[in-house]
Amino acid sequence: MGMDLILLGPPGSGKGTQAAILSQKYRIPAISTGDVLRAQVEAGTPLGQRVKAYLDRGELVPDSLVVDLIQHRLSDPDTQQGFILDGFPRTVPQAQALDSMLAALDRPLDAVLYLQVDPQAVRERLGQRHRGDDLQGVIDHRLDVFLQQTAPLISYYESHGKLELIDGAQPPEAVAASIDEVIRPLAVPSFGDASFGHKPNVSQVLPDENTKENGSNA
Ligand code: ADP
Repeated sequence: MGMDLILLGPPGSGKGTQAAILSQKYRIPAISTGDVLRAQVEAGTPLGQRVKAYLDRGELVPDSLVVDLIQHRLSDPDTQQGFILDGFPRTVPQAQALDSMLAALDRPLDAVLYLQVDPQAVRERLGQRHRGDDLQGVIDHRLDVFLQQTAPLISYYESHGKLELIDGAQPPEAVAASIDEVIRPLAVPSFGDASFGHKPNVSQVLPDENTKENGSNA
């Protein structure tokens, strides 16, 4: 069953952790623009050389660059059953570009999961991490960039009826359980759920999500 998800949240909100859990559970790829960009930098590719300074400073790389990257990645066959985007979109133009891409593929987003964590908590979490761009000054800048450029996506997706708020301050397993509650009904769509129109229409023959499942996954 396909599932197209976005993980949204400030740096350090646990998007990468949750993306990995979701990817295993639903057997769909987690796509992290940050990971892809860092891999390019490490491999010393022309793209890597172009983006290194942005990453080091905690600035966003240009929209066109990450939009191209995502466009290519979403044409890979392993995304047909769904995908989890971690770190994309990060600006309103990126979200608009993604909407057009998905409209062209006739596959609307299923949900945008917003991991809520207060700024002080993310500062502490990031301070304990050891990535190259996790120096205090760069962390503070990334949080500012988040507030200015990415936070507007909260109301963007709310107005599209896609936003799901998740308490990201809980321990990782509890966050995963909260996410599960939100997306379980999506994985087993209820009668006539129009948002699943792009998928095989098995919903007609399935009972709704309140009926018992195998229950081993609680
Ligand atoms: P974090 O969530 O901790 O900020 P990421 O790995 O998601 O870490 O991002 C690291 C860096 O990669 C960002 O600071 C930015 O420079 C770049 N980056 C990642 N995704 C995007 C994007 N969608 N648009 C622009 N820049 C991005």
